[in-house]
Amino acid sequence: HHRTNQSTVTMATEEAWTQLSGHAGNFQSGSRPGRVMKRLCQAEADCLQALASDPRLRDFAPAFYGIRRSPSDDSDSGGGAEFVEMQDLLAEFQAPVSLMDCKIGCRTYLEDELAMARRDAKPRPDMYRRIVETDPDATTPEQRAAGAVTKLDYMLWRERLSSTSSLAFRIDGLKRGDPDGSVAPPPFDDFKRLRRREDILAMLAYFVDGVQAGGVARAYLERLRRLREALTQSEFFPKHELIGSSLLFVHDRAGRASVWMIDFGKTRPSPSRLSHTAEWSEGNHEDGYLTGLDNIIHLFQQLVNA
Ligand code: ATP
Ligand code: MG
Ligand code: MG
Repeated sequence: HHRTNQSTVTMATEEAWTQLSGHAGNFQSGSRPGRVMKRLCQAEADCLQALASDPRLRDFAPAFYGIRRSPSDDSDSGGGAEFVEMQDLLAEFQAPVSLMDCKIGCRTYLEDELAMARRDAKPRPDMYRRIVETDPDATTPEQRAAGAVTKLDYMLWRERLSSTSSLAFRIDGLKRGDPDGSVAPPPFDDFKRLRRREDILAMLAYFVDGVQAGGVARAYLERLRRLREALTQSEFFPKHELIGSSLLFVHDRAGRASVWMIDFGKTRPSPSRLSHTAEWSEGNHEDGYLTGLDNIIHLFQQLVNA
């Protein structure tokens, strides 16, 4: 970690580590520099461990350092709770870093979660109101007559509101570290509603904008292509359904840029081999992961060629 001057916002340190999404209480600093701890979800720990021993993918996921109990005694801050310790992906970068979290896949719910929602036919006027407030045209005449939707309707609506359904990925969060050492707030604060391809392209252009913009976009593109190649050669990938998992994009103003796979809380071994490109229908476990990655690659290609 480098601290160039006093006004530099230090994001890659234990004192000021930046988390783009998820619950703040889920993360703590690691047992030594360069590591971070996330509240334990056994499925995620199993996945990090499996990725660490996949020769194709190990360099595209945080290194796995085992499971440990929090050193803190304060139970409010997770004292005594169990954590999975992994590589801090920000540690190698010069502050202020720019970060983007893209949630990959054509759905963000496990099939179990959808099946459970389907069995729950209870009319939900609260969810109906939330849909109408955001997206007045999104309801059917039947739903309007009832003044309610089901939980399943609401979950599927959420996927269509962003680019999850249409592009098999969505931007879940983004922050840009600017040359004066400040961290620019996102130009848009409701990523749940970012859906159109051209709006996403404009957001990516904003994200990489800066002195090294061309180099940063090219470095991302190259890394994304290597990731795609690694995924198609990996043993792990066709055997796992990756739901709610993200690609974390990190760059700094020195022009260093990289991408990693993160967030495996809803990654599960699949009963059948997955193409990650086939259309999802309930029961086939397809997640659209490669489709989403290909769409991101195309967008970065467009940026590089612009
Ligand atoms: P959710 O499921 O709501 O997306 P979560 O609690 O599962 O959230 P993650 O998505 O794994 O948490 O991580 C949240 C954020 O924390 C990421 O967007 C990223 O900014 C940061 N982060 C996660 N893992 C790492 C890591 N290994 N190194 C650096 N930053 C990380
Ligand atoms: Mg996440
Ligand atoms: Mg998660």
